[in-house]
Amino acid sequence: MFELTDQPIDSAALRARLERPDAGACVVFEGWVRNHHAGQPVTKLEYEAFDQMARLEGEAITSEAEQEHPGCTVLCVHRTGSLPVGELAVWIGVASAHRHAAFLACRQVIEEIKRRLPVWKKEHHPGGAAEWVNCTTEATAGWLSPENYYARQVSLPEVGAAGQAKLAAASVLVVGVGGLGCPAALYLATAGVGRLTLADAGKVEMSNLHRQVLFTADDVGAAKATAAAARLRAQNPLVKIEAHAADVTPANVRALVAGRSAVLDCTDNFATRFLLHDACRFAGVPLVSAAVYRFEGELNVFRPNAVGCLHCLWAGRAAGELEAVANCAGAPVFGPAVGVLGVMQAAETLKLILGLATTGDGQTTRLVNLLDFSMQGIARSGDPSCPVCGNPISAPSRCADLPDSAPVVLSAEQLAALGPVQILALLEPGETLDAVTAPAGAIALPMYDLVGIRERAAHVLTVLVCRHGLRSAALARLFRAEGLGKIYALAGTLPAIRAHTTAN
Ligand SMILES: [Zn+2]
Repeated sequence: MFELTDQPIDSAALRARLERPDAGACVVFEGWVRNHHAGQPVTKLEYEAFDQMARLEGEAITSEAEQEHPGCTVLCVHRTGSLPVGELAVWIGVASAHRHAAFLACRQVIEEIKRRLPVWKKEHHPGGAAEWVNCTTEATAGWLSPENYYARQVSLPEVGAAGQAKLAAASVLVVGVGGLGCPAALYLATAGVGRLTLADAGKVEMSNLHRQVLFTADDVGAAKATAAAARLRAQNPLVKIEAHAADVTPANVRALVAGRSAVLDCTDNFATRFLLHDACRFAGVPLVSAAVYRFEGELNVFRPNAVGCLHCLWAGRAAGELEAVANCAGAPVFGPAVGVLGVMQAAETLKLILGLATTGDGQTTRLVNLLDFSMQGIARSGDPSCPVCGNPISAPSRCADLPDSAPVVLSAEQLAALGPVQILALLEPGETLDAVTAPAGAIALPMYDLVGIRERAAHVLTVLVCRHGLRSAALARLFRAEGLGKIYALAGTLPAIRAHTTAN
């Protein structure tokens, strides 16, 4: 509820209007007329509003806060007319079952009223001088101006005023506001991405705090999307931050993705990853995807028209089947690893918007390991039989800095140094293992015989190999997440695995 009044505000009466038996908290903000502003003494203020516009905007602000913070009742009353020093100029009260939601909603209304409400004030100074000040202009000018905020970024030749304007016009969806989404969204907001939507149905848990850096201990129990949006609005009031505190589903994904400059996949489940990938491809929107296992992470930029899509990486498997082995809920994770990967997602997204080249021009999987500080790039080749991108295979190549030691993905040298190991060569339908050039003792298994791979790898040091080196690495991570400790993948391609050429 929002009201304008030319009468003195009675805060006790307003508070009484918010009373309800299920409310455990009422957070009240009172804005008072003070005797100075911008270094000048003030004797009184006169407020003038575009009446109808101010009522509409005020009503929009309070109802937005109630929608974003379910269970909160919001009342805001703004004065007009002449006010002496000490008088109440604005009163905001929020009643809620829990104090934290009430604090967040109240803070949001304070900031939005300051930023959006079409109200002017006339400052009277000693001696009779007076001047009009637009409250909304005041909130976003002077100390908080785009010129000041982005000065150190605009001075980069790769950005400049034109690049900053591109960022301001950009619209980005971040799906998953967890270990990856928090740092990613933070850097997108501070860079000045004009419209940022945060999608997550989850609530903040205490065990999130060691890596989900937008949340404080006070946020535990709050909706992640809403709490993160409140935090980011405070970080950069110049950009529009929206919260979508619900799941991304087949029913809403197209509307969420449509018209975006980029979408960030910061999820931890394959079903949403595939859903986003397909919706982005359909809508012509680039997808910046990351995943982390313990100290290691991988980053993929999927451009809508490029070969080597997510289905090429996971051909033949339904998302639901992958889910059974890929559930990382509760899995151990090194906080800085999701931090680094989330920041890399933000960097790639900003580069996409600015028109700069992204990693491997969108056709390289970037592997990062914080335990040995290695970084590798593996070409993501198109699968000619891929139903989604279906393009001819380009010669796969590795562009890798070989790590000294890599806990999941090994170089050939590291494999040799391991001593006797079981090598499982994972074959797609239509692929064969050439016995002459294959690693000694290699056992061929169908790529998707997860039960067979799991049984063979349960008690023996095992290295997975596949034709391009990508799916074996991903599977090794999945089995590690399941608790298999002695499973590795060989980086890069294995020429001993060949695709059949079928005679027509
Ligand atoms: Zn594909």
